[in-house]
Order: sequence, then C-alpha cells, then structure tokens
Amino acid sequence: MRKLLNFINGRSVEGRKNHFFNNLNPVDGSVLSVVSEAAVEDVDAAVKAAREGQKLWAKMSNAERSAILHKVADGIDARFDEFLEAECLDTGKPRSLAAHIDIPRGAANFRIFADLVGNVATEAFQSPTPDGLGAINYAIRAPKGVIGVISPWNLPLLLMTWKVAPALACGNAVVVKPSEETPTTTTLLGEVMNAAGVPHGVYNVIHGFGPGSAGEFLTLHPGVDAITFTGETRTGAAIMKACADDIRDISFELGGKNPAVVFADCDMDKAIEGTVRSVFANCGQVCLATERVYVERPIFDTFVARLKAEAEAIRIGSSFEPGIAMGPLISKEHQQKVLGYYRRAAEDGAVVVTGGGVPEVAGDRTDGAWVQPTIWTGVDHSHTIMREEVFGPCCGIMPFDSEDEVVALANDTEYGLACSIWTENLSRAHRVAAQIDCGLTWVNSWFLRDLRTPFGGSKKSGIGREGGVHSLEFYTELRNICIKL
Ligand code: NAD
Repeated sequence: MRKLLNFINGRSVEGRKNHFFNNLNPVDGSVLSVVSEAAVEDVDAAVKAAREGQKLWAKMSNAERSAILHKVADGIDARFDEFLEAECLDTGKPRSLAAHIDIPRGAANFRIFADLVGNVATEAFQSPTPDGLGAINYAIRAPKGVIGVISPWNLPLLLMTWKVAPALACGNAVVVKPSEETPTTTTLLGEVMNAAGVPHGVYNVIHGFGPGSAGEFLTLHPGVDAITFTGETRTGAAIMKACADDIRDISFELGGKNPAVVFADCDMDKAIEGTVRSVFANCGQVCLATERVYVERPIFDTFVARLKAEAEAIRIGSSFEPGIAMGPLISKEHQQKVLGYYRRAAEDGAVVVTGGGVPEVAGDRTDGAWVQPTIWTGVDHSHTIMREEVFGPCCGIMPFDSEDEVVALANDTEYGLACSIWTENLSRAHRVAAQIDCGLTWVNSWFLRDLRTPFGGSKKSGIGREGGVHSLEFYTELRNICIKL
C-alpha cells in the first residue's frame, strides 16, 4: 500500500502521531493510499522549518526566486501524467477536465506570479513640510513571513498553488494543510520543489483533518503570520476565531450560492452550453458553480426542456473512461449530504425535472459516491435548496418578469461569490452586472479566468481578493518609509 508522508524541511517524514488514515477512491471506495497524520509536534517542526527557510528565501532577489518558480512550473509539466493520474484518482473527476484545467493551471500559477512580482510598482509621495524642504514618502513590500495554507478537495492542486505560488513569489515560506480527501498532488509537489531548487523549509506539507488535527494546530500556531484558506464558510468562521487572539491576518475564499440570470434576449445555445457547464462541471463541486437559475418567463419552458435534455445526456463514469463528462462526488459522506438536499427539495414541494437520486452504475462501483444531475422547478426562496450551498450537480430554476425583480432575487442570499448573466443586450449586461452583489460576474460566459484579475467573494463568500497584484496585498506587508529632506 502506498504511503503518503508529511513533507517537512525538504524531507518526507512520518508523523509522530504514528497514525495513518485512508485516502479513498470516490469511484469505488477502494483505498488508494494511507496518509500519515501530523501531530502537534510535526506542525511545530514544519513551522520552525518554514521560519528558517524563509530567511534564506527572502534574501534572494525577485529574479532568483522567479527563476526557481519557473522551474517548479516546468517540473509540474514534466511530471504532468503523474499529477494528472493522482488528481483524478483522489477526486474521481474526468481525466479530460483535470488535463484541461487542474494540472495546467496548477503550473500556470507559478509562472504568472513569478513574472508578476518583479513588475509591480509601489507608491511614492512628495510631501510639503513647514520648513519648505519637504519629505519623500515611499512604500516597499516585505514578505509577511510564514503563511499557513489550508486548501479544499474540489480543485486540489489548482487552488493550493493559487495560494502557494504568490506566497513564495513574494518571499514567504508556507506550511500547507491539504484536504484529507485529496492529499496526493500536494505531497508530490514537495518532490518538484526539491528538484527545482526551492530551499528546504520554504514549502512544507502537513497531513490531517481540521478540528483537533493538523488544520487546527496550524491555525493556532503562534509562528504562523497569516492563514489563507479556501473551503466552507463554517470552517472559515472557526479559523477566524483561531486567528483572533494573535491578530493573525486571514484571506478567505468560502462558499457560494451562485445565480445565473437568463434573459429572453440571450443567445439560447450559448446560455444552455454555459449553464450545463456551470451547474454540472466537476459534479457541481466548484465554488463558482451555478445552483440558482432565473429565466425570463417567455423562454422559461424552452430553457428548462433544453437543460433537461443536456443533463440527461451527461455520461457518468470513472475518470479514465473515454467520453465521460461527470464523475462521482468526492466521498460517500458528501454523497449523503447532497442526497439529503435532494430529499429536502422533494419535501419542500419542488418539481423534479430530472434526476433526484443515484444513477445506476456497474456492480464494482456501487460503493462509489454517485449522484444524478438534478434540476428542479416549482421552487422559490423559501426552499432550502435555493438558500443553502449543496455543492452537487443540481440547480433550481425560477421564472422572472423584470430586471428589478431578478436583481433582487439574485442578491437575496447570504453569499456573494459569482454570477452569470446571459443577454445579447450590451446595455442591459452592464446595467445588471453592476447591481449584482458578488465578487465575480460573467456575461455570456462562466469560469473564464484571467489570472491577473481580482478573484474572491463578498458577504459570507470570503474576505480579500486573490489574483494578480491583489494577491500581493495579502502576501506582503506594505511599509511606508518617510525621508525628511
Ligand atoms: P472544508 O471547509 O470542509 O475543508 C477545507 C479545508 O479546511 C480542509 O483542508 C480541512 O481539513 C480544513 N479544515 C476543516 N476544519 C478546520 C478547522 N477547524 N481548522 C483548520 N482547518 C480546517 O471545505 P471542503 O469541503 O474541502 O471544500 C468545499 C467548500 O469549499 C465549499 O463550501 C466550497 O464552496 C468552498 N470553496 C470555495 C472556493 C472559493 O474560491 N470561494 C473554492 C473552492 C471551494
């Protein structure tokens, strides 16, 4: 049985807890590997290694760090197939999806931030003084120090490197706690870091769970200067409390309940194609996924019928089968959560347009975490499935009659992550987009990402923005220096 170990100070080490937990394949419930859970002492060792490693790393010039980070990206590319297989086995996602998004973007994150840091100006002011001689104020950026990175299971390599790459590019060291569901690619990255020449201690990985385990130990460790976290809103609240006493900085990318707004003047083919992706991609386990769809009344029936046909045509299966568009959910536990929402929708009186249960799968996969793509109509905002994040391949569809009404509906949520608007009327697109209270609005597209743009959520969807120069806001301290002339 393959063993996954912690990665501390450039070496693979067994946790002092002497406990291994199973990493399960969501396709059939088989054990892929056993993972060494980090004890408090291991987390402490990782943080200490990071403190030491960071001193050396921060002394390097931007150009030196940047060259090494390019080698990290090249190293991921060179072992592309290994990363791909690991990500597919851990998550169950279709190979085509991970080959197109997870792994290439994981590598791209290192390139983009390596290139960015050397090209960002800070600010300067000439200030008048009573003696007439004046002063000059200028700002410099210093690394924050040791960053704790806590990442989720839905896009393991991509979302982890989205934090690790800017953190390292800015001269910080990291201690990463990957999701217990998807530990493999984060572990593999340690080998790539060593081969690329990242100094020991700059990249560390500790394995385990959240409360009472590696995740919580990391958030409580006084040697960690800041925590960047992607995951559930509830977990974000727990981490915020853990960081409160030592006033540690936090960056949060949390949950969503994202709307799609489909106007009658949309290009229907584009809207259907985009909504199929935004609802069902990665089995609905994308923070940006659409779970609420509002369709203008004249096209409501046509839209529902077409989305139903597309949902029913989705081929479900395991990562490596050709033509597969949807894998299982991440775990049996998550399957039970999603099926609980499916039952709740029925109890609340939603009309099941398609799905609502578990698909038929071949005998050796009945232990997998499968669910059907599901669409409901006959819903309103009193229904649980229109308010709470399901994180599964499903959506409720409601008709609307006016722009004002749909803006109010879209904003009637405690989340504020993403929105898609489908219209061919440019003025309407600008007008409506500006009124949606969320971090990312797409018009006639979904998940179209330029890594330089701000990414993040408002309300309970997060704190702060990642991407481009916005990542530097979190991973550096801006220091002002005032020179009296
Ligand atoms: P999760 O919150 O359950 O777990 C995320 C990570 O936090 C894991 O590594 C877990 O071990 C750790 N953790 C859990 N409790 C902890 C604690 N008390 N202290 C420290 N660490 C703890 O989230 P998940 O189930 O892995 O991911 C799904 C969620 O993530 C969804 O809500 C989704 O919307 C959200 N998400 C958001 C974004 C975004 O960019 N906004 C992106 C992806 C996922």
